[in-house]
Amino acid sequence: MSPSPTERLNAIVEQGLCIGCGLCEALAPQSITVRKTTTGFEVPVVIGELHDTTVDRIYDVCPGTRVEGLPDRLVADDTVVDAVWGPVRRIVRAWAGDPDVRHIGSTGGVLTALAQFLVASGRVEFVLHVKASTTEPSFGEPTMSFTEAEVLAGAGSRYGPTATLRTINDALDHDQPFAFIGKPCDLAALRNHARHDDRVDELVRYWLTPVCGGFGEPGFTDGFIRSVGIEPDEVTALRYRGYGCPGPTRIEAGDQVEERHYLDYWGDDDSSWGLPWRCKICPDGIGEVADIAVSDTWPGGSPTREESETDLGVNAAIARTVAGQELLAAAEAAGALTIERDVTVDDMSDYQPHQVRKKHTAGLRHEAMANAGRIRPQTARLRIDELAATVPVDIRTSQIEGTRTRIETGKASLPTPE
Ligand SMILES: Cc1cc2nc3c(=O)[nH]c(=O)nc-3n(C[C@H](O)[C@H](O)[C@H](O)COP(=O)(O)OP(=O)(O)OC[C@H]3O[C@@H](n4cnc5c(N)ncnc54)[C@H](O)[C@@H]3O)c2cc1C
Ligand code: SF4
Ligand code: SF4
Repeated sequence: MSPSPTERLNAIVEQGLCIGCGLCEALAPQSITVRKTTTGFEVPVVIGELHDTTVDRIYDVCPGTRVEGLPDRLVADDTVVDAVWGPVRRIVRAWAGDPDVRHIGSTGGVLTALAQFLVASGRVEFVLHVKASTTEPSFGEPTMSFTEAEVLAGAGSRYGPTATLRTINDALDHDQPFAFIGKPCDLAALRNHARHDDRVDELVRYWLTPVCGGFGEPGFTDGFIRSVGIEPDEVTALRYRGYGCPGPTRIEAGDQVEERHYLDYWGDDDSSWGLPWRCKICPDGIGEVADIAVSDTWPGGSPTREESETDLGVNAAIARTVAGQELLAAAEAAGALTIERDVTVDDMSDYQPHQVRKKHTAGLRHEAMANAGRIRPQTARLRIDELAATVPVDIRTSQIEGTRTRIETGKASLPTPE
């Protein structure tokens, strides 16, 4: 018997592919709500009648089932397309022109500075991005910022579940030009959605993203909160980073305030990161469909405790499109951005070794998922199969075997959403 529409939707969650972006709720609000379940993740829960046509649409736009690179029409002829780093027109080291924005921002405040410039210059009416959740302090939630102050209130990285696209209809219904800041998978989902809703390409004037190694599994974050002597349900505010680079992870429970180093949360290298399965097989953590993708610049991918004391915050910003390149120059001319110097894809690989590894191994992990009879995310223009073909045989074998073992031992699965 073929699976029901609900079973097909649940399969995305059960196979660990749902990132909780919220887009499926926006597509079918009468049938689906994206909410926190017993696993701690925000995932779709079926609340009304669901049809196969709706689930077909979801499979076509969900970033768990489809991830594509920049549409060809946005890759100008003179754009360099690097095998690992994708479309690149310019890469700079930069920070926010305003020292307060630089300090408050996650790294050097570049995303906030660009978004503030877009609002202040009237290029867009508002920015759709995220801020700390008002109900789940370790989560993020979408917000529409119309002023520079509102944009700044959303600064900082949220490493908890964040349904960035849950309110995309509100943003589109506004019928005003806007900028979108989301994780690379959020952007992938919205680019997918653009094939079905013409308003996306008409209204979303700028696409901005952090380079993204993944967010923290709820259990990982809860364990960290307990380690500082606070129960997760006592938390009243949580800031993962910002107010320095990376700045302290700050947990508040009423009057009790605990601050720890970023490395206390994440650990000393990427092997200790408690990431959702979808992040471990991510074919695009580097924001290939953005106009500008913005990252940290710590050599080797992690800060040191000593240098964090004095680090004022320096981002790398990759302009991928003509619009992104123009925006960098205009924001610098207006003083919103300070550009230190141009850098290269080799510098990016030094700052982001985990992204280079993941880009090479994602295709192998997808192959092992397909071999196990699982959903294989449809990908295009991300070069992951070409990169996988360059991986030495021993690593290739260990990646495929490791993925198979994870699947067989349930480490790549979540329970059916309830
Ligand atoms: C989950 C996650 C993983 C990351 N992994 C890496 C990595 O591997 N390598 C690396 O170099 N950098 C990574 N970063 C990016 C880094 O933490 C900074 O966000 C980036 O350097 C931009 O810094 P900034 O100072 O310009 O950001 P800010 O000026 O502070 O602006 C950050 C913007 O991002 C938005 N935002 C924050 N969290 C989320 C979220 N969860 N979902 C959607 N939008 C969000 C905010 O609304 C804000 O507009 C990650 C960020 C996130 C959120
Ligand atoms: S990733 Fe987004 S669209 Fe896909 S199932 Fe999860 S919430 Fe829905
Ligand atoms: S690693 Fe990939 S799937 Fe995970 S949050 Fe980042 S962009 Fe999304």
